[in-house]
Amino acid sequence: MSKSIRKAVVIGSGVMGSGIAAHLANVGIACHLLDVVPGTLTPEEQAKGLTPQHPAVRSRLAAGAVARLAKTKPAPLYDESFAARITPGNLEDHLHVVGEADWVIEVVVENLQVKKELLRRVEEHWKPGTVVSSNTSGISINAMSADCGAEFKRHFLGTHFFNPPRYMQLLELIPGEHTDPQLLQDMKGFCSRVLGKGVVTAKDTPNFIANRIGTYGLLVTLQAMTEKGFTVEEIDAVTGPAMGRPKSATFRTLDLVGLDTFVHVANNVYENVTDEAEKQVFAVPGVLRTMVEKGWLGEKSGQGFYLKR
Ligand code: NAD
Repeated sequence: MSKSIRKAVVIGSGVMGSGIAAHLANVGIACHLLDVVPGTLTPEEQAKGLTPQHPAVRSRLAAGAVARLAKTKPAPLYDESFAARITPGNLEDHLHVVGEADWVIEVVVENLQVKKELLRRVEEHWKPGTVVSSNTSGISINAMSADCGAEFKRHFLGTHFFNPPRYMQLLELIPGEHTDPQLLQDMKGFCSRVLGKGVVTAKDTPNFIANRIGTYGLLVTLQAMTEKGFTVEEIDAVTGPAMGRPKSATFRTLDLVGLDTFVHVANNVYENVTDEAEKQVFAVPGVLRTMVEKGWLGEKSGQGFYLKR
């Protein structure tokens, strides 16, 4: 059996949230896309005489993300007209739409406290029967929902999409200890039959499966590169096009993922494993920390290992 999902709310309109909303729109699901209210006016908003209370300013982040979908390559939408199925909004004025949704997906920054606080706010509007999931790359599903009520926890699980969501086949589903087994089965059916994903169920361990091994591989590659004097281009040549896998080049992928997100994901294992040897593998190298401190976040900031073209 697969769950019937017609209306979704995606919270967080960054790299992944906008891509997930687009993929849901592709299969006919009406979707609210929410983000935070921006703290400051842009020069263009100031020139137009807009105030911080103006609805266009308050929902600017999600509206901007929807507008960018048409320009993003590879295309997140099957057809640009499908963008009309996505309604942008903000968390302060529109969070009540959670009460009308079949599925709410949390896709905000990879930070346990931020995600916990958001789930607390979601629960205030949530109605039993609505599935709630997190797109976390590896933060514990149990820890994230620890302060939520028993009924909410039964409806909560991890749905880990990969980047870019339209094209990456893999989807990890991560039940928490309280997730209703029937709901997990229903979501497996829905995500494979309706969203077209290859579903793998993972245990709630740090970084689940894909990012536990993937992060390990990236950090070991980075270490070998610095120690042996390999270049970014050489590594990308052997892990990407020359291997016949043009989309899997190591540093192009890191730029796509976002270096800040990668640092959060590696830190999550570092902070949650007890084995000292394993811990050391997941210690983020200084060069990566420095890049993030300088605002070199990859494609989303225009500069990472490569300059955005
Ligand atoms: P991002 O930095 O591109 O976007 C995060 C968005 O969350 C921003 O738009 C930001 O304004 C918003 N946000 C921040 N705090 C918020 C709050 N309190 N409430 C609502 N919105 C808030 O990040 P991303 O790459 O889209 O990652 C989002 C989640 O998806 C993370 O948990 C990340 O680990 C996971 N993820 C990322 C990738 C990837 O390749 N980037 C892949 C799989 C999973």
